Amino acid sequence: METWIARDRDLVWHPYSAIGADLPIFPVVGAEGVRLRLADGRELIDGMASWWCAIHGYNHPEMNRALHEQIEDFSHVMFGGLTHRPAVALATRLAALTPDGLETVFFADSGSVSVEVAMKMALQYQHARGEPSRRRFLAPRNGYHGDTFGAMSVCDPVNGMHTLFTGMLAEQIFVDAPAAGFDRPFDARELEPMRRQLEARGHEIAAVILEPIVQGAGGMRFYPPDYLRGARKLCDEFGALLICDEIATGFGRSGKLFACEHAGISPDILCLGKALTGGYITLAATLTTREVSETISSGNPGLFMHGPTFMANPLACSAGLASIDILLNSPWQQRVGDIEAGLRAGLAPARDLPGVADVRVLGAIGVIELEEPVELATIQPRFVDAGVWVRPFGRLVYVMPPFVISPEDLATLTAAMVRVVNAACPRVTNGAY
Ligand SMILES: *Cc1c(COP(=O)(O)O)cnc(C)c1O
Repeated sequence: METWIARDRDLVWHPYSAIGADLPIFPVVGAEGVRLRLADGRELIDGMASWWCAIHGYNHPEMNRALHEQIEDFSHVMFGGLTHRPAVALATRLAALTPDGLETVFFADSGSVSVEVAMKMALQYQHARGEPSRRRFLAPRNGYHGDTFGAMSVCDPVNGMHTLFTGMLAEQIFVDAPAAGFDRPFDARELEPMRRQLEARGHEIAAVILEPIVQGAGGMRFYPPDYLRGARKLCDEFGALLICDEIATGFGRSGKLFACEHAGISPDILCLGKALTGGYITLAATLTTREVSETISSGNPGLFMHGPTFMANPLACSAGLASIDILLNSPWQQRVGDIEAGLRAGLAPARDLPGVADVRVLGAIGVIELEEPVELATIQPRFVDAGVWVRPFGRLVYVMPPFVISPEDLATLTAAMVRVVNAACPRVTNGAY
């Protein structure tokens, strides 16, 4: 074991990592339910759902069966000129489940690619509609939309490290994000920056792109539904499309099946990914309206110009179908509501800790925001020693556990978060937690 871990350090890149870095890395040899099993036999309660994905937990018998059945039929065929039942069934399902008006489906192989596809759809739509000068995107700051170049260009310019790629990234238009707080009173003036940009530069703007209600990796911030409703109205008023990136929020995470439902709006283009396959295999989807699809299809060149090699991979589509069935046949709203209550109760003691700037919860998402960035090298092993898997970034210690987590495991998870944050904050002198 030691040798292959050493080889990992030497030659395998991890997300946002350095080769040869002296950070701890934990080898996983099994995963079942909400537990990850490490090579040394320790079991960790998973707080991350593998980055929003594993909503049903790991090694789920029905998920396994769906993939086994599909693999016995065929694992992949090209999607140019061929089709198959899993793709059509999943597309039908997604069109029915998502907010009204989203009727056509483009399958992509990762969230970032689905964002590229969404942006390309908006550009081709505006071009076909006779507005080729609309070539930019407007985005709130603090957003995260993925790591490919188009997606990066609409990520928060500071968190997204735009300066590193100056000259390579398209220059987009940013407005300050709404102040944080899902339940707080909303002041319509918060939409003024977006209105001003659309008034001044609307003729350049193809679409507004945002994450509805929950800004994820760009800061784990929640904002009021009225902001989203207002953005929808402004897009209509100024002829821009609205792209909602629900890659993180889709499939129940925020308490609604899709976060757009908090505001009762439909975007023109919707990106889905992450929990789409229950965390089994990579797949994403970009949905759009008939109006956008038909305008693109009747324009010049009259084709939508994207086609990934593994488009609509049958294994992935089968996983998507099984995951949606499992979700909808489960009491998921009750579960997410119970997790929300458990997170609120369990994380509340963190509010009083020195070094804690904020504690917030929405749906099955719990966040402790610190005043200073964590030191991963010391905090990560502490979580593992506490028997939980929590992967902080920057000033954020956050969890989004599988929906099947038990109240006991959730209590263990939140108690560990409070304890580890307490121990990690340098100014703490007592050992109360
Ligand atoms: C994770 C994420 C993406 C990127 O998805 P990948 O599958 O990692 O490419 C885009 N947008 C949001 C909101 C995400 O959370």
